[in-house]
Amino acid sequence: MLDHAFQRRREIERMLLSGKRLTVPKLMAMYSVGKNATLELWERVQEVNGKRRRMCKAKREPSIFSGIAYCPDCGRRISFFPEKTSKSNPEKTYFGSCQNYKANGPDGCTPHRIKEQDLYDIVLKDIREWAVMALADEQAVLEKVMEQQQVNSTVDYGLVERKKRTIGKRLEEIDKVISRLYEDYALGRLAGTIIDNLLPKYQREQEELKKQLSALQEQSAEHDATEQNAGKWISLIRQYSDLKELNSCIINELITKILVGDKRRVNGEKVQSIEIHYRFIGNLTDSGNGETIQ
Ligand SMILES: [Zn+2]
Repeated sequence: MLDHAFQRRREIERMLLSGKRLTVPKLMAMYSVGKNATLELWERVQEVNGKRRRMCKAKREPSIFSGIAYCPDCGRRISFFPEKTSKSNPEKTYFGSCQNYKANGPDGCTPHRIKEQDLYDIVLKDIREWAVMALADEQAVLEKVMEQQQVNSTVDYGLVERKKRTIGKRLEEIDKVISRLYEDYALGRLAGTIIDNLLPKYQREQEELKKQLSALQEQSAEHDATEQNAGKWISLIRQYSDLKELNSCIINELITKILVGDKRRVNGEKVQSIEIHYRFIGNLTDSGNGETIQ
């Protein structure tokens, strides 16, 4: 009798583990088992199945570029899938393409297809090159980064500083003039009617210039913050001059996003623009890292 019950339980387990969608009442009817025993089996098997699904998901090893690579045309993610490249080779190669294109075809976007390994090589090379430069000459890299920030920015920081100096000087002059007016008035050298006419004019100018100065100071502060960020990035990247392998931790530490352009032909060669946006400083090249992929 005991053996028979045990056998039935085993059978129920097998049925459940096979992935067949069976409800507790259905199982109770099929095997004439009590509700509590069936429920307990059912719950245990659901747990096992859940773990299995999670294991399968983990085994699929999502690309280290998942959530980092984006399509610059439509803004959707570049998603990576394994593909068989030849019949003789059982190994699958990961390729990324625009999610929008994958879902909607040419109506959605263009392919933005990239071999994961190619992207890996480009990113690793770029990190190493910057790291080696930062290690060799920190100041030169800082200048380069700031130069690029200037290219990416609409503000001319040189002009901002010049304007600040001019306004500063004019404000000093106005201060002197106003003090002089009060002094002359106090000493009886100036009539009250004249000061009433002159003072508001200077005060208006002073107010206007102070507003302008405060806006310029905000722009300067942004520039200083950029410089600080550039410094942070340099001290971060210089640790990776000897980097051999990429992983998602390193990618996420250094990079905020990678824009994968579409392939196009330039002088008969296939060119694909890859724009790496580093943490703290953004993109370092104005036309993308412009890698050629054969
Ligand atoms: Zn797209």
